[in-house]
Amino acid sequence: MERGHGKAKAVVAAASAGTDIPGAVDRVLKLIGGIGTGAESALIKPNVVFAIRPSSGIVTNPLVIEGIMKHLISNGLDPGNIVVGESGSMGFDTGKAFRKTGTTELCRRYGAKTLDFYGKDMVTKRVTIDGRDIRIDIAKAVFDADLVVNAPVIKTHFQTGISMAVKNMFGAVGFESRKTIHKYCLDEGLAHISKILPRHVTVGDATIGLQGFGPSIKGMPGKWGLVFASKDPVAHDSAICRLFGVDVPEHVKMAADIGAGVMDPASIEIIGEKQSMLSRKMKPPLGQFSPLDGVNAIDGGACAYCLYAVYLVLQRLATQGVKPKRRIDILFGRDIDESACDPKREKILCGDCTERFKEKYGNLISGCPPKKSEIIRVVRKMIGADER
Ligand code: SF4
Repeated sequence: MERGHGKAKAVVAAASAGTDIPGAVDRVLKLIGGIGTGAESALIKPNVVFAIRPSSGIVTNPLVIEGIMKHLISNGLDPGNIVVGESGSMGFDTGKAFRKTGTTELCRRYGAKTLDFYGKDMVTKRVTIDGRDIRIDIAKAVFDADLVVNAPVIKTHFQTGISMAVKNMFGAVGFESRKTIHKYCLDEGLAHISKILPRHVTVGDATIGLQGFGPSIKGMPGKWGLVFASKDPVAHDSAICRLFGVDVPEHVKMAADIGAGVMDPASIEIIGEKQSMLSRKMKPPLGQFSPLDGVNAIDGGACAYCLYAVYLVLQRLATQGVKPKRRIDILFGRDIDESACDPKREKILCGDCTERFKEKYGNLISGCPPKKSEIIRVVRKMIGADER
């Protein structure tokens, strides 16, 4: 928070990235007062949840991470004490995602380390949401570091609207906790996580983000050429939404409501570039789920395992250029709304939660969670992907 005329304001710094993205990151970090001085260790949490190239707009650009590293090193941090931590999206190998995005190579060049949060020590916090006790395990590395830098890419997300600073730290949460939060209280859960995390700095990557149908490959990369920095994740997210002409997502509003940051424009000061230079027209998120035309995905409040398993299978088939010969519905989660189903389509039931429909529709892929290889096999068969 900065003080101006006696009134505390959250500062969001912005810069055009131009051809020197690390240089732009250094500028925005200096604008918010600089970071790293006096710290002995730092954890950078980018969004590297998928093994995909940064030009997709789905993952954080390694040049943004490089800018953060260079800034930290110039302020005295030993590169060996800088860790880039992440855990891949359900079913995705984090190491593969680090390698494909260029993060591994970047860390090697600077002598920094990568860390897969999966299977590592966690710190357990508890919150009460709608009367339900929710256990939230967060990677211990987040609490151990002297400084945490949250480095989200700015992208649309079919569940949360936009994914930015508040959403990005979900990647530091253990899988079982993510499963529960996805199932019962995604927006509220994200808001509470933002509140219980140690204070951290955000560097927002809007060099190439994603718009429309995100975080799928059917989304459209947005070449916005900007980077942001703020010590307030809620101010960061809400300011970008306003600049980009999209609604502030529910989880960010909730984070503001519980005091994780501020979102009132009167309480936020945007510095760096003139605001007229920062406006962008972002295509809004689509609530649509299925990345594969002809397959209607019907989510009955599934937890993250089924949700991402189905999503990733359909995304993989779409990437492979598979064109369904038959249109189908795929159902997952406990609370299926049958009115969302197309009575003319054959159905796949995915996961034990859908077992009660077995007699009616057949085609149950059992398991909790069901195996991804089995989902691929059944979907391919039902849509006629292997028929000549
Ligand atoms: S079947 Fe298991 S993994 Fe799938 S939605 Fe239900 S609880 Fe989650």
